[in-house]
Amino acid sequence: MNELHIHPVDDLIEHAIADDCICGPSLRPVKRADGSTGWLYVHNSLDAREFAEPNPVGARRGPNL
Ligand SMILES: [Zn+2]
Repeated sequence: MNELHIHPVDDLIEHAIADDCICGPSLRPVKRADGSTGWLYVHNSLDAREFAEPNPVGARRGPNL
């Protein structure tokens, strides 16, 4: 298997497990333990759940921290 797909659970649509899914998944190379490269497709939610989730990384970037 050369590719894996990560997609949101219970999204507004059923995601196609393919690179031409309607959400426009991003593609990232991933190094495997054996040194070879696989591909990871990260699908985007269509219910905008990312905007409701906290962003602890961004919170640590404040000017006083
Ligand atoms: Zn998708």
